[in-house]
Amino acid sequence: MEHSGKLYIVATPIGNLADITHRAVDILQQVDVIAAEDTRHSQKLLQHYQIDTRLISLHDHNESQRARQLIERMQKGLDVALISDAGTPLISDPGYALVNQCRAENLEVIPIPGACAAITAMCAAGLATDRFRFEGFLPVKEQARQQALDLLQEESATCVFYESPRRIVDTIRWVGKVLGDERQLVLAKELTKTFETFRTGTASQIEAWLTEDAVHQKGEFVLLISGYQRDTGNIPAAAINLLKSLMQELPLKKAAALVASHYELKKNDLYKLGLEIS
Ligand code: SAM
Repeated sequence: MEHSGKLYIVATPIGNLADITHRAVDILQQVDVIAAEDTRHSQKLLQHYQIDTRLISLHDHNESQRARQLIERMQKGLDVALISDAGTPLISDPGYALVNQCRAENLEVIPIPGACAAITAMCAAGLATDRFRFEGFLPVKEQARQQALDLLQEESATCVFYESPRRIVDTIRWVGKVLGDERQLVLAKELTKTFETFRTGTASQIEAWLTEDAVHQKGEFVLLISGYQRDTGNIPAAAINLLKSLMQELPLKKAAALVASHYELKKNDLYKLGLEIS
């Protein structure tokens, strides 16, 4: 039986052309074909690194058909690399159908890690990074957008979004409206590029900055929102400590009920606090 080829998922720069690994360049030189979202766009990167591997397109509109063709080639022994316009393929970019089908066909899929705008923004934003929730792009339609934000009202992890320059102001307004103006936001703009900017503030402060100068709305954006923190101001520290102790021995529902009745507090508040603690 013929030896199958491999699929390499190769991260490329998100702005600064130097942000690519040696391994990524080697792989792009060695594979038989590179599947790229936009071949003309990727040609510039390949030229820069003197890579002359053949490029074919794989984008949202031809992915399932292309995936089939690529899999047939891999089954004949050819190696394929997948790249996107910027950053890590499959992260708000095409490639899921291809990888999923390769896995189903027992073909080897090898990640070649590198730049990703979400991670790049997060590591320098100054918000908590122990837990985060990546949301990609918010829906474009108003109702769906509001619903998506509604679901994040009590999300305690840092939330990370991608946004286009066309919608950034509108999105910040929605964030203020749905999540309130107390949350800390960080807008990370033009990462790794000449005009890289990190802007921190509440939704209204970020909106004011974006609208004070049209130039501020140009470029690529990652938006980060600090996680929701329950106001425990009306729950005495002693009650919180008792809840923590009881939670180690009892189911949360029972622990919350006992503490609530002892301190004359709302069971639901303690239950929600318990969920956050756990
Ligand atoms: N796969 C990419 C990654 O790994 O980050 C993301 C692709 S997604 C189609 C493009 C979005 O990523 C942009 O609209 C923007 O929100 C974000 N992005 C990409 N490059 C960026 C940069 N240099 N600075 C800020 N955001 C960027």
